[in-house]
Amino acid sequence: MEDYPRTLSEFEARFSKEEACLDYLFQLRFPDGYLCPRCGHTKGWRVRRTLIECASCSYQTSITAGTIFHRTRKPLTMWFRLIWWVTSLKTGASALGMQRVLGLTSYKTAWTWLHKLRRAMVRPGRDSLFGRVEVDETYLGASEEGLRGRKTEKKALIVIAHRKMGRPSVEYACEESKMHLRTASNLS
Ligand SMILES: [Zn+2]
Repeated sequence: MEDYPRTLSEFEARFSKEEACLDYLFQLRFPDGYLCPRCGHTKGWRVRRTLIECASCSYQTSITAGTIFHRTRKPLTMWFRLIWWVTSLKTGASALGMQRVLGLTSYKTAWTWLHKLRRAMVRPGRDSLFGRVEVDETYLGASEEGLRGRKTEKKALIVIAHRKMGRPSVEYACEESKMHLRTASNLS
């Protein structure tokens, strides 16, 4: 079974603490346990919030390097909540809604986060997925007057395709046009 919460209460129970979010990222990075990328040693310790130092050669690996969480000054719990919120909404995520949900004081921060997340959701390469693929969709953007359901003029459609590969599962997300949703749906 994939290692990801299925409901809001599961999510809240699991990711309400910063340490739990870090542990999750650690698990994704080292699914078989810590391994020093330089010397292959399997023992290391945390030297700072997101850094692990190899017990043998002292090489330091960042848990968040290469992710959108790298060098963020905001708590991971907030980022995780944002991602949960954006990917579970059917009606589209707006910066204003996000500001309210996360209790952010700055609209600019909310807007910046959403755009950072949108960029991260575009998968580089965009090669075809294969094997067992699950597909879902959501919209990103403010609600549009007079338009309902899947009709949209300004909102960005985000297609989330998830390929089952045992544990941990690999999740891909991409922002595409409706045409691509049809293409993506044909994969499932
Ligand atoms: Zn090492």
